[in-house]
Amino acid sequence: MSVEYTELDGVALLTLNNPPVNGLGHATRQGIVAGVRRAEENPAVRAIVITGAGRAFSGGADITEFNTPKAVAEPMLGTVISTLEQCRKPVVAALHSVAMGGGLELALGAHYRLADAATQIALPEVKLGLLPGAGGTQRLPRAIGVERALRMITTGVAVPARQLVDTALFEHVVDQDVLGAALAFARDVGARNTAHPTLRERALPTGSTPSAALYQAAREHAARTMKGQPAPLKCIDAIESGERDGFEAGLRFERDCFMALVATPESRALRHAFFAERAAGKIAGVGTDTPTRDIRTVGVVGAGTMGRGIAMCFANAGVPVVLVETRADALQQGHAAIDQLYRGQVAAGKLATDQADRRLALIRPSLAYADLAQADLIVEAVFEDATVKQNVFEQLDTLAKPGAILASNTSTLDLNQIAGYTRRAADVVGMHFFSPAHVMKLLEVVRGAQTSPEVLASVMKLARKIGKTAVVSGVCDGFIGNRMIEQYIRQALFMLEEGATPQQVDQAIEAYGFAMGPFRMSDLAGNDIGWAIRKRRAREQPDLVYAKIADKLCELGRFGQKTGAGWYDYAPGQRQAQPSAEVEALVRAHAAQSGIPQRKLEDQEIVERLLFALVNEGAEILEEGIAARASDIDIVYLTGYGYPVSRGGPMFDADARGLAYVRDAILFFQTLPHGAAWRVAPRLARLADAGGHFNG
Ligand code: NAD
Repeated sequence: MSVEYTELDGVALLTLNNPPVNGLGHATRQGIVAGVRRAEENPAVRAIVITGAGRAFSGGADITEFNTPKAVAEPMLGTVISTLEQCRKPVVAALHSVAMGGGLELALGAHYRLADAATQIALPEVKLGLLPGAGGTQRLPRAIGVERALRMITTGVAVPARQLVDTALFEHVVDQDVLGAALAFARDVGARNTAHPTLRERALPTGSTPSAALYQAAREHAARTMKGQPAPLKCIDAIESGERDGFEAGLRFERDCFMALVATPESRALRHAFFAERAAGKIAGVGTDTPTRDIRTVGVVGAGTMGRGIAMCFANAGVPVVLVETRADALQQGHAAIDQLYRGQVAAGKLATDQADRRLALIRPSLAYADLAQADLIVEAVFEDATVKQNVFEQLDTLAKPGAILASNTSTLDLNQIAGYTRRAADVVGMHFFSPAHVMKLLEVVRGAQTSPEVLASVMKLARKIGKTAVVSGVCDGFIGNRMIEQYIRQALFMLEEGATPQQVDQAIEAYGFAMGPFRMSDLAGNDIGWAIRKRRAREQPDLVYAKIADKLCELGRFGQKTGAGWYDYAPGQRQAQPSAEVEALVRAHAAQSGIPQRKLEDQEIVERLLFALVNEGAEILEEGIAARASDIDIVYLTGYGYPVSRGGPMFDADARGLAYVRDAILFFQTLPHGAAWRVAPRLARLADAGGHFNG
């Protein structure tokens, strides 16, 4: 039964019961309407209370019914809300835990609302490129005013009910037993012989700032923070329409906007990302019933760039960490750097001093490997050198307790080989964090040939606890993300040699929506990293076509921001990239020397060569089973590489363009000066021929 009906001393109690979050699926919507009718027909019932069972009042739409006929079957949510508003007996909503999206819109249709102070209140539709389509843009402003409604609806952020206590949204905000309070309130209003208020009829509260100024400020803010996304602007238009043209016209306008937004590529991409993130948690051979191991304490080996951030990830989630180094100076430096990062967060107002102190206290520095003996998980982040890793894993094998999970943060070494340094390969897994590890959301979980399902399930669960988006990758050089980015950077370098400048390439891809172009990114990360990789590649694959220009840049010591010069010039102590005459001269001289014909590259070519390099390698990764599904690749790029969210990730983006188009473009790139670097991936070729897609 998705809505339970009970009568308690003259009050009909409708309890939404559609786990996990009382999504408003078809049966639930029907149940509410039926419950209201039944209550109306029974003369003994004087009032109705609606609440939610379990962990939510309601989290909104039932995502399991997305894209099914049930999602659009009557009674639609708008009809349910009208039923509440038109009910002759007072309807009281009792909110607790979560009231979001359609769940909040439902509550806005009640005559009265009470809430537990901690209830998370939100209209998050904008995050899916949509707007609240069941009156949220009309009723919320009438309850809390235009200014706050604009903020909530255009950002989608959740606000605890206690922060809305001064608005007309709630009759009462209580600290406990909201249901008891709502039943008592319902009995009271049920006994009154008065008309019951609806937000539909309520006038917009007037604030101190004229709303025209609020709309303008909101539009400017949306244009800055959600560049190129139509949804936040439509949210503003809908709120404004309700004020200017009245409730009914506003409601119709909202409906039209919703229908238009559902069809936009941006909303499709955002909805894809939403489902992709959920799908990434599903792993072949690891059922939901797979047991997991408790991870109460963690060891981190190596207090360098990565080890520091990794230790912070755990401390931030309240998990005690022992941070082990072999050298006292490195340990001291690492620990001091962590302290400084926390102080920086305090100074920026992101963290309270006592919180920072508590987190720092959870990280215990040590020079003794023996201190790792009790850790449930040990993450290795030492130098990227097979001999050093071998030494570390042999020691961990001897001293870690039975059942401890041994993880490596290696970027390029073979995880199976690392597992082979131990006698417990089933307990070895890759945890590939991204720099800075305490900030970046992405975690690639590398599944070795022998990694046990239990270890994988445990690490995936832990990833959620520390706020990471985890994607499983098979073992290969670079895993999913870096293996693909290598092809992208390779193309960026070829294009320089063919006539483009670093700033032209960066600007083209940044205009497409990337957070940072390849040359600015390289300067930030350090050009010497790629140099070391290219030297290794040159040994391993002597026939590989690659652009020598980046080596020449490194030979000049232009390693990037850290040396004050890279693909760009940097004024002392500045991060602002300035086009460099020296680099321009270097590139052109190199091209002349190498006999590469020069031409002007159009931005479209630049963008497509970069994107399709990612897509083509992604297709190889799928073919090899390194990624389980195309959407996993999309998540890697959306969360770890600054791929524009409103484009859904490289594989989704390619699907949207049409795979035949992508294939034909690659066939054309093969005719260009560095054409030998391209080979259409077999999976791309097959899908293009069949008119198929990577995703679904
Ligand atoms: P780093 O050089 O900054 O730090 C390595 C630390 O390990 C040093 O402090 C060193 O003293 C310590 N160390 C060396 N041998 C040790 C041993 N036997 N026992 C304990 N400590 C030891 O390196 P990093 O950039 O932090 O990289 C660490 C690992 O993370 C590498 O495998 C790297 O490939 C990987 N990784 C790096 C990045 C990145 O952006 N830097 C990103 C993802 C993964």
